[in-house]
Amino acid sequence: MKNYLIQIIEDDPSVKKLLEITFKEYGFNHISCENKKNAMMMFLSHNPDLLIVDLGLPDGDGKEFIKQVREISKIPVVVLSARHDEKEIIAALDVGADDYITKPFSVNELLARIRANLRRNISDENISSKILCGELEMDVASRDIFFKNEQLKLTPIEYELLKYFLLNTNKTLTHKQILKEVWGVGYQSEMQYLRTYVNTLRKKIEQNSTRPNYIKTESGIGYRFCCNN
Ligand code: CA
Repeated sequence: MKNYLIQIIEDDPSVKKLLEITFKEYGFNHISCENKKNAMMMFLSHNPDLLIVDLGLPDGDGKEFIKQVREISKIPVVVLSARHDEKEIIAALDVGADDYITKPFSVNELLARIRANLRRNISDENISSKILCGELEMDVASRDIFFKNEQLKLTPIEYELLKYFLLNTNKTLTHKQILKEVWGVGYQSEMQYLRTYVNTLRKKIEQNSTRPNYIKTESGIGYRFCCNN
């Protein structure tokens, strides 16, 4: 396994310590800082593989840092927030964060999220016309989709929705982001469209659409398309 470097931006000493101990124990290299100003310098000089960003920093909002990073990099960004506040999380995802963890968090959850986001970034680097996820296979060039080796019949919107999910696996996507990408600008508040199509898609690709394995609901925030291969 590659030796990943994680950059932590967190001003709370106890949380920072917990992150550092966890990363050390599980074999991730890490560097850390406590404020926005140092975060950018450190990011530019060390070229890390993933960022963990606290939203409430002493010299400003972590979201501003994420915004700056997004102008120059596609690095996975996981937000860490004491504020169990959907609005804050949604705003962070909307400026380009990939995922979030709310404090207090479990070590297992933290590691699972980090692995998923590192994995997603690697698969982004090898973009081919075929996307594989569990028992799903999409050929982007021919627009064919197979589920358990059988061709899946999808409506054009279902296809676009599934394609967007497959290109953004293991990432929390807000309702607004999905509506904008699949339906277009101007549809960002049409929640009912999204709910309807997620339901019809679930019926086609989930063993049990009330307990989905692929399209997970992130309550109050959006959806996450889970892919573990
Ligand atoms: Ca803080």
